[in-house]
Formats: sequence, C-alpha cells, structure tokens
Amino acid sequence: MTRLVLATGNRGKIREIAAILADLDVEVVAQGELGVVPVEETGTTFEANALLKARHAAAVTGGPALADDSGLEVDALGGAPGVYSARYAGESATDEDNNARLLAELAGLAAPRTARYRCVLAFVRHADDPEPLVASGSWEGAIATEPRGSAGFGYDPLFLVAGDPAGRTAALLDPPEKNRVSHRARALAALREGLGRLLAAARGPG
Ligand code: IMP
Repeated sequence: MTRLVLATGNRGKIREIAAILADLDVEVVAQGELGVVPVEETGTTFEANALLKARHAAAVTGGPALADDSGLEVDALGGAPGVYSARYAGESATDEDNNARLLAELAGLAAPRTARYRCVLAFVRHADDPEPLVASGSWEGAIATEPRGSAGFGYDPLFLVAGDPAGRTAALLDPPEKNRVSHRARALAALREGLGRLLAAARGPG
C-alpha cells in the first residue's frame, strides 16, 4: 500500500479526505505524525498555498503528498475571508472566533449573504515534481444569522447549503452526506483518476 502524506494538521480536513479516499489502496497519514512542521502559507491564492504545502510535506518526508487549501468566500465581503479563512479572527483563532467575526462583519449589511466554499487540492510525487496534479471544487451556500449543528468543522454551523429543502447548515449534514457534495468532495472527485494512476505507477508492476 502506498503511503500518502496529507499536508495539513486540520483534523476536519484529515477526516473528510481519508473518508473520501477510503477505497483507494493508500494509507493516508497526516504530516504531523511524521514530524512535518507546517509551512507558512504565504500564497495569495488557494492554488499557490496548496502547492506550497504539498511540496513542503514531500520535501520533509521524501514521499508523495496531497495538500488541501480551502476557504469560504462571502460575496457581500468581496470574497473574504478567502485564503485567510483559517486566520480570519487572528493567527491563533478558533473556529468559534472566526464564526463570531463573520457574523459581526455581516451584521447590519443589507446585501445578500450568498457565499461559497472553495477547495484546491495539489498532489506531488516528490518535492520538485514538475507536473503536480491540481484540482478544484466549490460548494454554493449562504451565511446564516446564527450557528446551527455540530458536525463538520470551521464555518459549517453558519453555512446554509444552497438548495437544501430543509434549510440545513453544513454542520447539520451527517458526514457521509457532506462528503458527497462538498467542495472537498468535488475537488477529490476531479483529482481521483489522475491520483489513482500516479499512485499505481508509483507502486510499480504487480
Ligand atoms: P487552510 O488550512 O488555510 O486551507 O484553511 C482552511 C479554512 O477554511 C479552515 O480552517 C476553515 O476555516 C475553512 N474551511 C475550509 N473547508 C471547510 C469546510 O469544509 N467546512 C468549514 N470550514 C472550512
């Protein structure tokens, strides 16, 4: 079985990616378990940060790595928090801090509260891989006025899923349901074929 290092320490992401990749013949290992210290996310796009994280994890571990850079874009805030989603309320902000800031920024605004999650995944076979696999996915929704639900992570308690007949937030979906429709699921679906091919090639014949 090939080991695939996940270039993240975010437990919500690790859980979701491992669940969605469960049927590929890979052992998914979080970079923290291999002593990888997270790299500073200096990019200004999801793609730049995903590549930065994947190459860093591959450089430290010497093996293939997969990184996810994702975030929430709120139309009324000009696309914020975007690539700064994890640190919207400050460098060591918790999910609760970020959600509170989001509600505060939107309070009193008359504009529609439409939003979307975006996810960019980057896979590299090694740190200097000249042909990284990159795929993206998005998930439309809107920002609720108060948090509801306890599944998922991050902004999920505030993210009203577009088109959901019951008006649920992402934190009210059960995990398999979120993993069928989320931005991360869509990005992984787009990456899957290429990823399977490259992992099989890495394993060699037989
Ligand atoms: P990154 O680690 O820099 O990619 O930051 C990702 C941040 O975006 C997370 O810490 C969350 O705040 C937010 N985010 C990304 N995906 C999700 C999701 O599926 N649910 C809720 N929040 C998410």
